[in-house]
Amino acid sequence: MQAVPRHLFVDTALANQAYEDTSLPIGLQQTISKPSVVARMIELMRGGRGDAMLPRVLEIGTGCGYQAAVLAHIARLVISVERLKPLHDKARELLAPWRMGNVRLVYGDGMLGHPPNAPYDGIISAAGGDAIPPAWLEQLAVGGRLVAPVARGGGQVLVLVERNERGFVRSEHEAVHFVPLKSGTT
Ligand code: SAH
Repeated sequence: MQAVPRHLFVDTALANQAYEDTSLPIGLQQTISKPSVVARMIELMRGGRGDAMLPRVLEIGTGCGYQAAVLAHIARLVISVERLKPLHDKARELLAPWRMGNVRLVYGDGMLGHPPNAPYDGIISAAGGDAIPPAWLEQLAVGGRLVAPVARGGGQVLVLVERNERGFVRSEHEAVHFVPLKSGTT
């Protein structure tokens, strides 16, 4: 995270708040996630796999591309899907100067995952729905870990799903507050 200058991913008017531990607006009612939550989710996704680069990671909800840039440092290939075209375009523009050849930005409905590069060793969602979409579970590799906010009692909690040879092991973690996961593209 030290390698990714967060102020470049927000409006210049908000740049002075970029290193506070808070989410900030990025337009279209969406937000750049809170840094401590980005760190926590990536930590949960990596699990006990140490410092080794994960082969393939899928991110749902590119937003402005901040977390995708962070993920580029811990995965050999990052696929990041965004359903709002203006944000997808903005992320493309913001990431271009960094020449992150291992990040692929996809415009589409992330609820369907991204089958062409599946299975993924890690899946991380920056938007929260009522349940984990079945496509994500199907596209998770055996030994892979998925982290997503899921609705729980009027709020949201972080859910971790680990896939092993026998199936899926689910655990619930702390309360979080993410923008809603929506289907379709705009
Ligand atoms: N990863 C971003 C967070 C962006 S906020 C960061 O680094 O800060 C979450 C994003 O998820 C929003 O841009 C929203 O449009 C997107 N989103 C919501 N539902 C989605 C879906 N089904 N597919 C893809 N993106 C989705």
